[in-house]
Amino acid sequence: MTPDQPPGRPAGGLISPAENTWCPGCGNFSIQHMMKSAVAELSEEEGIPLENFVLLGGIGCHGKLVDYLNVNSFYGIHGRSVPAATGIRLGNPDLKVICHVGDGDIYAEGLDHLIFAAKRNSDITVIVHDNRVYGLTTGQYTPTSPEGFRGRSTPGGITEHPLNPLEVMLATGATHIARGYTKKVRHLKDLFKEAIMHRGFSFVDVLQICATYFNLTDYYNEHAYEIEAGEVETGRYESALGKIREWDYDRDAPIPLGTFYSVEKPIYEEKFRALAAGRAERRALVRKVVGEWR
Ligand code: SF4
Repeated sequence: MTPDQPPGRPAGGLISPAENTWCPGCGNFSIQHMMKSAVAELSEEEGIPLENFVLLGGIGCHGKLVDYLNVNSFYGIHGRSVPAATGIRLGNPDLKVICHVGDGDIYAEGLDHLIFAAKRNSDITVIVHDNRVYGLTTGQYTPTSPEGFRGRSTPGGITEHPLNPLEVMLATGATHIARGYTKKVRHLKDLFKEAIMHRGFSFVDVLQICATYFNLTDYYNEHAYEIEAGEVETGRYESALGKIREWDYDRDAPIPLGTFYSVEKPIYEEKFRALAAGRAERRALVRKVVGEWR
């Protein structure tokens, strides 16, 4: 911190001086800038000190984001940033813990961690940079690549239907589920702010353009639309499921963007603390009884 720097505000602003190596036109730029704006605005509006935001990244092009924003950050290994995020949040309840992950990173290597964090309703936010391809390793298919996708590892095209991650999250207990698109930046920022302020496990799948290996800009521009207020009852499981299933990766179906589901439930960290406190009380009682008996 320099002498003329306001407390809690990093020198040089929230964009770090690290050299940016994303390809021109990459959707990661939109996510980076909208996360920067979301963090800055929440800090102003909600009085959250900037040092209370923690970003985690996995392995992939997306992971560089945590170097490019000037807040506390941590790199997890491939697919494993979610359990690290849970541990950080468990250790310090004042922190806003935001996990940036890739679709290959979290829907392949890290799917079990994602499912269990959702099941526990851990109070963290997971933002998926879902470009539907492994970009950093030059274009292999991921669990959300479309059927027929021809990548470096599948030159004949893949025969699997893509995973619908929103449906998986709804089924496993996520309490806040949303989808954004990197060409709708203001909408994306609002989704980020809403997810960060949600108390419990919040999940945003972001349709991200990979300009180099899988550019779906024309397709998304034609099919994606923002859900209108009242179009989905976000507190009802069946209503959310119906809206999520509107796009099951069929080529011609419309792609809804927005919040599909949002409910309040007890969070993992508080239940865990209550359990730990109960144990401490029991241990103290045992020590007292044993001490009296001796
Ligand atoms: Fe972005 Fe794709 Fe380039 Fe990776 S390979 S930086 S995802 S455009």
